[in-house]
Amino acid sequence: MKKISRYFATNCIHAGQEPDPTTGAVMTPVYFTSTYAQQGFGQHKGYEYGRTHNLTRAALEGNLAALEGGRHGIAFASGLAATQAILELLSQGDHLVLGNNVYGGTYRLVDKIMSRLGLSYTQVDTANLDLVKQSLKPNTRLVMLETPTNPMLGLTDISAVRSILKQAQSDALLAIDNTFATPYNQLPLALGADLVWHSTTKYLNGHSDSIGGVVITSRDDLSEKIRFIQNAGGAILSPMDAWLILRGTKTLHLRMAKHNENAQAIAEWLAQRSDIPRVYFPGLPSHPQHALAKKQMRGFSGMVSFDTLDVERTRRIGAAFKVFTLAESLGGVESLVCHPASMTHGSVPATDRAALGLSDSLLRLSVGVEDVEDLIADLEQALQA
Ligand SMILES: *Cc1c(COP(=O)(O)O)cnc(C)c1O
Repeated sequence: MKKISRYFATNCIHAGQEPDPTTGAVMTPVYFTSTYAQQGFGQHKGYEYGRTHNLTRAALEGNLAALEGGRHGIAFASGLAATQAILELLSQGDHLVLGNNVYGGTYRLVDKIMSRLGLSYTQVDTANLDLVKQSLKPNTRLVMLETPTNPMLGLTDISAVRSILKQAQSDALLAIDNTFATPYNQLPLALGADLVWHSTTKYLNGHSDSIGGVVITSRDDLSEKIRFIQNAGGAILSPMDAWLILRGTKTLHLRMAKHNENAQAIAEWLAQRSDIPRVYFPGLPSHPQHALAKKQMRGFSGMVSFDTLDVERTRRIGAAFKVFTLAESLGGVESLVCHPASMTHGSVPATDRAALGLSDSLLRLSVGVEDVEDLIADLEQALQA
């Protein structure tokens, strides 16, 4: 999709959208139609059926492609449907490398469904580039990872992984889940990724009222294949959801600037407290990959995790919030707190959680865009519970 501007905000508001040709409506209408009138057999305006063509969805796809600096966007009914479309680029007998701290649903899809259909996989800590190199096989067709990860907020050097694939003369595709960072903070395609994907459910929509996903690429061949999978598999994004996300991205730059700022303030506030032994946030100088974060990201997004190392205390804190809501998901304007061990990562075996450093006393904050004074006051009273 053509960018409107070399700057981000103008693209958030305008890319992919033009006034409606029939009425001049400034906002893209929600095209609620399953089919389109044809003038004669095989004569139509390029629109035949709603699964294949929908103008609201096309506007969103163009908008998100421009934000990621890609040429093509293909939107799906959920983040996981987008993940599945990427996996369906592979064939029986192919191997993929999967980050060891990917979204639980991504792991479940690979482990429980795609591996039954004939894909093999190796899960590694992709922050460790030697492990990535060692995990490549002659039939490796895909490397799939998240950076930053959930909820430990570990990073992977995207351009270094690209170099490893190049050195190994591997034709494996590199796909990055950019849900946590958003294109405001990180542009994986520019760092050498072939594919970027999102759960638009999170920051891109930003208002916790829609489920969706998108795959973005600059490669015409990959776009064509994923577009085919979108139509053939049918896991399309609905027109109403496309419209909601399109409304959301108009303020993505404003929201992300505030998420970044509030999360930084909260991480710094938590880090100076003697009763919170561990704080995980890529924007803290104490984060082991802070240098990489500064190199690879423009901002550090709104996710902060912390560990009291005391399960009972964490339980009391989790129940004491008044402004933060205890809930799964993330990326909305409202602040949420989550207990990963019992909520988002409940299905990850305890030994695997321990290996990631994801303890039962860890809490994850999705820092919203409220007044940071209220958020810190809420944290302060909760920590005293
Ligand atoms: C939520 C999430 C997904 C899955 O997206 P859904 O829209 O819930 O299907 C994938 N990756 C990450 C990082 C997520 O946070």
